[in-house]
Amino acid sequence: MNIPQVNVPRLVIIGGGFAGINLVKALGNKPIQVVLIDKRNYHTFQPLLYQVSSAGLEPDSIAYPLRKIIKRYKNMYFRMTKVRSIDAEAKEIHTDIGVIGYDYLVIATGTKTNYFGNKAIEAHSMPMKKVPQALNIRSLILQNFEQAAITNDKAARKALLTFVIVGGGPTGVELAGAIAELKNQILPKDYRDLIASDMQIYLLEGGARVLSTMSDEASKKAARFLTQLGVLVHCNTFVKDYDGKKVTTNLSLQLESETLIWAAGVTGDVVKGLKAEALMERTNRYKVNAYNQVEGYPDIFALGDIALMASDAYPNGHPQVAQPAIQQAQLLGKNILKLMEGKPLKKFKYMDKGSMATVGRNKAVVDLKHYKFGGFFAWFIWMFVHLMALVGFRNRVLVFFNWCYNYINFDKASRLIIRPFYKLK
Ligand SMILES: Cc1cc2nc3c(=O)[nH]c(=O)nc-3n(C[C@H](O)[C@H](O)[C@H](O)COP(=O)(O)OP(=O)(O)OC[C@H]3O[C@@H](n4cnc5c(N)ncnc54)[C@H](O)[C@@H]3O)c2cc1C
Repeated sequence: MNIPQVNVPRLVIIGGGFAGINLVKALGNKPIQVVLIDKRNYHTFQPLLYQVSSAGLEPDSIAYPLRKIIKRYKNMYFRMTKVRSIDAEAKEIHTDIGVIGYDYLVIATGTKTNYFGNKAIEAHSMPMKKVPQALNIRSLILQNFEQAAITNDKAARKALLTFVIVGGGPTGVELAGAIAELKNQILPKDYRDLIASDMQIYLLEGGARVLSTMSDEASKKAARFLTQLGVLVHCNTFVKDYDGKKVTTNLSLQLESETLIWAAGVTGDVVKGLKAEALMERTNRYKVNAYNQVEGYPDIFALGDIALMASDAYPNGHPQVAQPAIQQAQLLGKNILKLMEGKPLKKFKYMDKGSMATVGRNKAVVDLKHYKFGGFFAWFIWMFVHLMALVGFRNRVLVFFNWCYNYINFDKASRLIIRPFYKLK
């Protein structure tokens, strides 16, 4: 891997997501060698992926080069490769470009899409966890519009213009709202040969309400906002099958649709090699103690979405959102230095800053500890928080400019089919 051997301990981080990059920042220019490994050469700001999918933002405004993050620290190295396995006994990890030893290892690999074992859905649906997947969705939506414009067959046109989103969590809700804005603002102007009311957006949720991790109030408001935008929200509805043409649910609802976007769940992106006992099987998350040490491995830590730290307040682990990943990484940075100096470590305590979701222009919901609200002010807060959380000044400027432009012009600037998406036949 061409990493020099130096006389300070080596810490290897697998994953340059929220956890990985915050650990990098916490250990920058400290007396430890840090090797960051990721299969991509950029950090993805996943909360805004849905805006790439719905043609609101270009991908380069939500992705950030990992080398640009580490370049300011002399003790850091980056290698772009996929980690295949961990050999905890030899204290080595095996990657596509070779083997590297470690003194401390941090697993921050996040999650991947969970299809709950349904191979048909996996083969035919559109996931939205990565930048290329978001671009696939953007292409498919626009290709469907183009195809619908030249199709005389009414049923075929209807299927092209029926968009089904599965999963009523923040991702599904935000994406449904954004696609509804495409229908309401873009379709009538760009595609005068199509009738906007022919386009249908369904949001199918297996549970009793959308945004089930937020307050009842937020759920109700979000459902109302979606309905106002023309999204057809169906709760208690499980998708059982999708063959690329027909969506079958547990109810009598069956839909002919060329597009099914799967936002119904994630599972840990585990690296092979650790003992089965270290893993919570159902969710594929590593069991960690209050210092993020993986059960049975004092030198291996797990952070963020992939870590399951059970506590009285969070018996099933912390929510799989950015804040636990960021806060755990910041503390682990300090704890690693303490560990090297033989000092006692500090336990992790999660500070819940609240949760929020946006449905569209002037429509968002925010749940704070003592205050819950929705509407324009919530939307403004949502925009401010996301803008500030983005990595890199340039990205913040790009996103801010795009949002202002979209707001004033009722426009979505990135309606380009750069790389066509070909569906499985
Ligand atoms: C569409 C979407 C919307 C979201 N919206 C929000 C939101 O609004 N607010 C919020 O707080 N949270 C949101 N989340 C959740 C949030 O993005 C995650 O909780 C957060 O990214 C977790 O950070 P992490 O560092 O644990 O993992 P990630 O950010 O997922 O990073 C994992 C990294 O590990 C790398 N990796 C994985 N396996 C390997 C391997 N074997 N070898 C090398 N590299 C590997 C990946 O390439 C990736 O860069 C959203 C998630 C998604 C998917």
